Amino acid sequence: MKELKVLLGVVFCALLVLPVWAKEDVWDYPAPEGDRNQRDVSFYEAPVDQGHLPHVDYTVPPRNVILLIGDGMGFNFVTLARLASVGADGRLHMERPPVTGIMRTHSANNLVTDSAAAATALATGVRTDNRWIGIGPDGTHYKSILRVAQDHDYRTALVVDVTISHATPAPFAANVENRNWQISIAQQQFENRVDILMGGGRQYFLPEPQGQRKDERNLLDEAREAGYSVIFSREQLLAQDSLPVLGLFAHNHMTTFAPEPTLAEMTRTSLGLLSQSVASEERPGFFMMVEGGQIDWAGHANETDRAIRQMLLFDMAVKEALEFAQEDGNTLVIVTADHETGGLMIRGNFDNVNASWHTGGHSAADVPIYAYGPGALHFAGTRDITEIPRIIADLWEFEDFPVAITE
Ligand SMILES: [Zn+2]
Repeated sequence: MKELKVLLGVVFCALLVLPVWAKEDVWDYPAPEGDRNQRDVSFYEAPVDQGHLPHVDYTVPPRNVILLIGDGMGFNFVTLARLASVGADGRLHMERPPVTGIMRTHSANNLVTDSAAAATALATGVRTDNRWIGIGPDGTHYKSILRVAQDHDYRTALVVDVTISHATPAPFAANVENRNWQISIAQQQFENRVDILMGGGRQYFLPEPQGQRKDERNLLDEAREAGYSVIFSREQLLAQDSLPVLGLFAHNHMTTFAPEPTLAEMTRTSLGLLSQSVASEERPGFFMMVEGGQIDWAGHANETDRAIRQMLLFDMAVKEALEFAQEDGNTLVIVTADHETGGLMIRGNFDNVNASWHTGGHSAADVPIYAYGPGALHFAGTRDITEIPRIIADLWEFEDFPVAITE
């Protein structure tokens, strides 16, 4: 009997150890401790100063650009998050920039855009059909503002909380005919040598059976050979001190719960690495795109508490960007959305806010633009979604944008 207990003990210990042995590049954090609709938003740090940020000199061009995209973040998502945190008279971090605009988002073939066509517009300046990534309606492939910046020696980063190969980050470093081809998107993002790629989606970098790739390529090994730090945990993120970095914190999408790093932590680390590299290598600047990708999912699910939590997680990343920009003085921050999701409407009264939803899909509603820093004034007014990267290209004096890929 005693031997049996010892044997069981050994087997039990082996079972505990096994996942560690087997983990290498293939493992995941356990399911989130918290419910995705939890109301606990105690992580949120509201702006201490609830006023507008001061105006800056808008006549000088920015060195760095940080584009933050709240996926599905219509105007009423901002209102909802404000009411749930700082109150009816308060301001979120994203509401502090003194320059705002209004943006229309429709795609080439649909009044209601999807995230692929919207991101293609935001990345390449070209309006295309839903589902297409970095390709115009006539089949022409376009180079994103990120890749054109690379050609001009800028440092670059894509930071998201969904798979890194998802629709919004995809057209910034890939061209494919279908947003679902994440295996191809991941490969192009890596092969286009974005300096920082952070988010979920390890499965698209690994060959079968560990991952989804059928071409037997292990892009994690290839990235290591190419000099990338390939990291999987918050601890590794916070200790990271050099570029380039491939940070894949989940096999599929991130959970947005501990022990993962938060979008704000990924943003802060990336800004430190980018600015350090730009300064020490005398580069012209950097381009970074940050996506709060799960605001959209709360909209699709018509889940109000989830929408509030995802909005405030995104606003914490905006806080990092704005604090960096204020200190740096040469950084333009643009906060916007790709479309509205859910047809969210706010009614009720001060102590009983009534949020109602009108669709499980996207809507054609216009979305906000908040801009801070040198060049910000160019984003004021009513804007088309295709104008965003065109204005950035103008500010950086890149000639001929949009750029068709001819080779
Ligand atoms: Zn969506």
